[in-house]
Amino acid sequence: MAIIIDGNKIAQEVRHQVSKEANDFKEKTGIVPGLAVILVGEDPASQVYVGRKAKACAEVGFLSREYKLSADTSEGEILNIIGKLNRDQAIHGILVQLPLPKHISTDKIIAAIDHKKDVDGFHPCNVGGLVSGNPLFIPCTPRGIMELISRTGIEIAGKEAVVVGRSNIVGKPMALLLLEKHATVTICHSRTKDLPAVTRRADILIAAVGKPQMIKANMVKDGAVVIDVGVNRLENGKLAGDVAFEEVAAKASYITPVPGGVGPMTIAMLMRNTLDAARNIAGKILTK
Ligand code: NDP
Repeated sequence: MAIIIDGNKIAQEVRHQVSKEANDFKEKTGIVPGLAVILVGEDPASQVYVGRKAKACAEVGFLSREYKLSADTSEGEILNIIGKLNRDQAIHGILVQLPLPKHISTDKIIAAIDHKKDVDGFHPCNVGGLVSGNPLFIPCTPRGIMELISRTGIEIAGKEAVVVGRSNIVGKPMALLLLEKHATVTICHSRTKDLPAVTRRADILIAAVGKPQMIKANMVKDGAVVIDVGVNRLENGKLAGDVAFEEVAAKASYITPVPGGVGPMTIAMLMRNTLDAARNIAGKILTK
């Protein structure tokens, strides 16, 4: 039976550490890290995520500002707010909650954020930094997964890692981070032929698909580390991951649950990235 990786506990440790470091930083510089979150539209899941981000900011002692805009807000209006936030010295991190309504270009909005304030790590400059192994910000979910793996004491170097899913938010950055830590990495997607044959090779298996319980025990090698990123709402209202938890846990060496695995780490790493942003910006001002 696998050891269950407790994301709630590890995320709490990270938040505690960030809170302490933020306090020291404030005492030394007088600066309170500030995060601005822009939400466009009324998507219920996005509203929940934005609420959690504000709560986490309050917990670690950050300033948080929310911009809740109606679904028909124009691209120009959002770009205008981003421009102001880019110049606002009290704000160190800017996050636009995705997905955006269809009439707005996500690429254009992300590119408008000052990359030094792009705490989600989605700006092309930060993506380039990640590819070349010198990132300013790492996207929060993959960074959180790396933290879960390292704090659990799991070795990555030389391991066979398989990432199922190739999104810009999770799959691709995840694969790059594992590669950076010397895993041999395979990325799978909807056109992968014989997915079970590939996933069965994995010492470390990351499922980031968005299909409830699609990773079954017969797709997992004995003793694999299984990280479940999926968040799927079932018809009965319950949350489920991408992994069939019970049967895979019987085979794996470590597994993350849903909820209580990767999810809490994402917000903890957002706090870490915001503190990093404040430090970077303050470092530049203080050395001028
Ligand atoms: P996307 O929908 O952007 O990407 C899903 C990926 O899965 C795509 O690359 C797609 O392939 C691939 N895929 C779909 N069907 C299959 C299949 N049958 N076999 C193999 N691959 C398949 O999702 P995200 O990456 O944004 O999110 C993935 C999951 O993680 C979702 O459940 C989401 O809610 C969750 N999530 C959780 C977070 C957290 O904090 N816990 C944060 C972010 C996401 P293709 O590219 O070919 O279409």
